Amino acid sequence: MQDIHPETPNHFSLPRRISRLGQLAYNLWWVWNPEGQMVFSQIDKPLWERLNHNPVAFLRKVDRPKLNAVTNDRYYLDFYDRVMRNFDQYVKADSTWFQHTYPDLVNKTMAYFSFEFGLHEAIPVYAGGLGVLSGDHLKEASDLGLPLVAVGFVYNQGYFSQRITEDGWQETRNLVLNFDEMPLIPMVKKDGSPAMITVDLPGRQVWARIWTLKVGRISLYLLDTNVDANSPADRQLTARLYSSDPEIRIPQEMLLGIGGVRALRALGYDPALWHMNEGHSAFLVLERALELVNQGMTFEQACSQVRTSNIFTTHTPVPAGNDQFPLWQMDKYFGQIWPQLGLTRDQFMDLGRQAQAWGDTFVMPILALKLSDQRNAVSELHGQVSRRMWRFLWPDRREEDVPITHITNSVHAGTWMARRLRMLFERYLGTDWLQRQDDPDLWAEVENIPDGELWAVRQHLKRKLLNFANERIRQSWLAGQVHPVQVVAGGVLLEPYSLTIGFARRFATYKRGNLVLRDIDRLMSIVNNPSMPVQIVFAGKSHPADEPGKLIIQQVYRAAKDAKAGGRLVFLEDYDMNVARYMVQGVDVWMNTPLRPNEASGTSGMKAAINGVLNFSVLDGWWQEGYNGENGWSIGNGVDFSDPNQQDDADAESLYDTLENSIVPLYYNGRTTEGFSSDWLARVKESLRTLGPQFTMRRMLKDYVTQLYLPALQSGGVKPVPEA
Ligand SMILES: *Cc1c(COP(=O)(O)O)cnc(C)c1O
Repeated sequence: MQDIHPETPNHFSLPRRISRLGQLAYNLWWVWNPEGQMVFSQIDKPLWERLNHNPVAFLRKVDRPKLNAVTNDRYYLDFYDRVMRNFDQYVKADSTWFQHTYPDLVNKTMAYFSFEFGLHEAIPVYAGGLGVLSGDHLKEASDLGLPLVAVGFVYNQGYFSQRITEDGWQETRNLVLNFDEMPLIPMVKKDGSPAMITVDLPGRQVWARIWTLKVGRISLYLLDTNVDANSPADRQLTARLYSSDPEIRIPQEMLLGIGGVRALRALGYDPALWHMNEGHSAFLVLERALELVNQGMTFEQACSQVRTSNIFTTHTPVPAGNDQFPLWQMDKYFGQIWPQLGLTRDQFMDLGRQAQAWGDTFVMPILALKLSDQRNAVSELHGQVSRRMWRFLWPDRREEDVPITHITNSVHAGTWMARRLRMLFERYLGTDWLQRQDDPDLWAEVENIPDGELWAVRQHLKRKLLNFANERIRQSWLAGQVHPVQVVAGGVLLEPYSLTIGFARRFATYKRGNLVLRDIDRLMSIVNNPSMPVQIVFAGKSHPADEPGKLIIQQVYRAAKDAKAGGRLVFLEDYDMNVARYMVQGVDVWMNTPLRPNEASGTSGMKAAINGVLNFSVLDGWWQEGYNGENGWSIGNGVDFSDPNQQDDADAESLYDTLENSIVPLYYNGRTTEGFSSDWLARVKESLRTLGPQFTMRRMLKDYVTQLYLPALQSGGVKPVPEA
């Protein structure tokens, strides 16, 4: 069936000398290689900013005279040639870590499934942390040369964009994405028509076409039901992320799991392992079993085969957070399928059944746990929580023997670390430092960076954040969309010499975005201390159906508008990867206040840490293992109260105490003539030294390879015999 290929993207009309920009635009390599962005932005910087750093849109819109101008610029052309050389060398991939380490396995295929991928702000098909983790996974898989392919959705309305009303209420707008202005390449058949797969839904077949995104050396395939062959309702199935309507969610998950397997088969792949990133794709285990049942195996035999090459990563620390469906709804969608698997209804439902107070549900993580031999949680603490949560599936085991291990999340350094800081690292740690990013000895060398230079970069990044906030709110003001007080809440009064704290995440109640407001008078006296002022920059969206979450945004926004805060509390609208980058790079302290143990891992604090920002967080998720007493600060002491109100009181008290007695004085006291505190920078270096090697992606991906992927690969995988 290998008659499917990527359609050659329409390569714009570019001057011949720089025509390969078209090719560069269609490979996300530029996302984590600053020179790959500069080769576009240098042509027309304002346009580049206005188009959200999107090279495909940029090349469609840039003026021909601007393009002609650079073809007469020797410096530009030298730069262009160098960038293209680096790109070619990277994509060629003739000496990657994986090739060196596992030469026997380079011909295997690893398949990675996720409901969302956060690769860049110009491709808004992610909602938050899970997507960004998947995106970072692909980028590092590319860097290491893993033979990996990935499957997900391109949601044609993307995730919503956020506006805040004058009264602090979140409004949501759904965009319609223009695929022609995204680096999406259609997969087509020999005759040029779109490559499609089908999935059976009650009373109908649904079609999905396949797009691809090139992520360095990796291909990500994205399904899309917006095709003529579908009914108007089915065309909308992949319009948005995380619908709360099961009549959309079940079909979506069938498309991802079942359709995803079919798409890989249609493209000619025969993966030797199948990694489910969270339970949304778990129906893939059924499709794989069905392939073998259709060849004559019993369901039992089929399962014992596919299990060895299935890998499941769980991200959910609370039972209510698990993706699940009422059985009556499963009847509707799977009534045709269990007979094909040779199962009765009960046998089928038992694959995912969990008793709930309101009746049994079919729980996607249970299906995935039962049909995967390799299972992991995403931090040490989350491992413990998961083993406790799922122990009932292994009733004869002790909790510590429940077969769910953990691999702590991490972040892709090339994507998240500021260019200025990368340049400083190149100077003091060596130009190959990214290749050694999981080596603790490398990070110990941050001691060699002169304090003054490190401080200058930190101040530069803070100014960039403030300029960004200013410019954004200026645009809204110009457009006449905001009330004057919103200009203050948007950050115009921020200034670069004040200790600046960042708090950005999804506004869900457990994240307690309002914890810092618990004693507002105490907060105001901290913020407005005339000799030691403090600023707090907030950002984050709430799921549109999450009313309590939206109320927390409103509470924060009202505090930011209040004249008492002096413009030192700020809310940046429309949190996305772009806002995240400015924030994790530009603040001094990254604050996180989840209610333990609800934060499975958290990753924004890691992005902050590798930029020389200090973490100040509840000992939940990754920070429980990252914090060593010297490399940041904790909120609370790791003791859990049963009464949430008491917990909030204790945590808020601890938060204020640490701010007043440790963080603020350390930042302001004992400053050198150059204007910084050496003790502060010593802590920054301790943070870089200890957290850098642990929480950048190379460590994580190598752990996945050695702990989970190799056992699956070595078990052989299963190759279904092609139909005659
Ligand atoms: C990193 C990131 C997240 C996840 O951050 P957490 O610390 O896990 O809350 C969410 N959204 C965006 C846009 C991000 O960049």
